[in-house]
Amino acid sequence: MGVSTKVLSFLSQLNERGLFEVIENLSDQAAMETTEAYSTHNYHPLPVNIVKGRGAKVEDGNGKDYIDCIGSYSAVAHGHLNEFVTEAIHRQLEKITLTSRAMYNSELAVFCHALAEYCSLDMVCPMNTGAEANETAIKLARKWGYTRKNIPLNQAEIIVVDGNFHGRTTTIVGFSSEEQYYKYFGPKTPGFVMVPYGDLDALNAAITPNTCAFMAEPIQAEGGVIIPPDGYLAGARKICDENNVLLIWDEVQTGFARTGARMGWMHEDARPDIIAVGKPLGGGILPVAAAVGQKHVMEVFEPGDHGSTFGGNSLSAVVGVAALMEMEREDYAGQSKRKGDLAKQWLQDLGHDCIIELRGRGLLIGIEFDASFDTKRLSHRFIEEGVLTKETRHRTFRLSPPIVISEAELEVAVHRIDRAIRSV
Ligand SMILES: *Cc1c(COP(=O)(O)O)cnc(C)c1O
Repeated sequence: MGVSTKVLSFLSQLNERGLFEVIENLSDQAAMETTEAYSTHNYHPLPVNIVKGRGAKVEDGNGKDYIDCIGSYSAVAHGHLNEFVTEAIHRQLEKITLTSRAMYNSELAVFCHALAEYCSLDMVCPMNTGAEANETAIKLARKWGYTRKNIPLNQAEIIVVDGNFHGRTTTIVGFSSEEQYYKYFGPKTPGFVMVPYGDLDALNAAITPNTCAFMAEPIQAEGGVIIPPDGYLAGARKICDENNVLLIWDEVQTGFARTGARMGWMHEDARPDIIAVGKPLGGGILPVAAAVGQKHVMEVFEPGDHGSTFGGNSLSAVVGVAALMEMEREDYAGQSKRKGDLAKQWLQDLGHDCIIELRGRGLLIGIEFDASFDTKRLSHRFIEEGVLTKETRHRTFRLSPPIVISEAELEVAVHRIDRAIRSV
């Protein structure tokens, strides 16, 4: 009582001064302090406040520019404010943005058709985030297990791998091997079995009559850009076929040309039953994600089994289709392969002894430093030089810049990386 009529001072100020007036006059320092005061501390951001961006470049409030080599963990494949995608948004904003799935909408129809074709699969279940796409894949696999494979109810097992990253929901962190991700968030959801990544014998040995699926990333991106041995993807497909087990690839980060092919699994004969996709499907602008799969699995869902209020909304659907059209027309897969090979060559040619391994496929590159090298300091030197990248696990810095980055910008980025390493 009483609280409801109190004048809210900050919102009053915003109403009086105008939202953009306030945002544009906020210093970088004030933005960081306000975020720390009012946002939970579940991230440890670099001390950089971004106020605008275009293509592969972003700018802080002081007008200092940076080459974005994080690319929002590869979600910004199209570059910041991609022209084709933003134009599609402007047009759609004159029509309709959100209808819910209680009705049909034309944009969703086109989105599902285009996405299924791009993925070389049959049907789409639209979601918003990568974690939701993986949750969707898990639900599909379990229902398939009970209704098609006749696994006894509540006994289904899904085999996952050590070092996995599939998102942050309670079920998903329950089968993470990273202690911080699960330690205080239990009890864990049962039904997951962990095997080492890259080990087909271990996968084979872990299969029981109750196994409904095997789930992994074609390259472990968050895990430190870990590339499995050649033949692993195809080998997993074969083992799944032999045992009537579904194959699920989490393509949220490796999908959509990031590794130099439309999908990460396409480097081998490893067509999955289901994939989870997200990140770049949103054109660098909105969260757009989906589970995509073969008809025999996707059709286990019946009305009421699953859903999402915003999943498949008209605006996101248009963004997704525009993102796909741009990726195809501009041959993102070819660009990613070419620029990735160039970047790796240039980094190799720098000849730094402190780099113990340089690995990657396409524009998903990991630079691993030896144990004696001060990576914390390097991280700050990168900022001073004007290149944004962050450490993942295993003392590895990941480079996943927008796929549209120009060769000249890539060369500047490598030059800045060189200067930063030299100075540490
Ligand atoms: C980022 C990521 C996710 C989670 O996506 P969100 O949109 O953050 O929920 C899942 N899997 C992989 C492989 C990812 O890289």
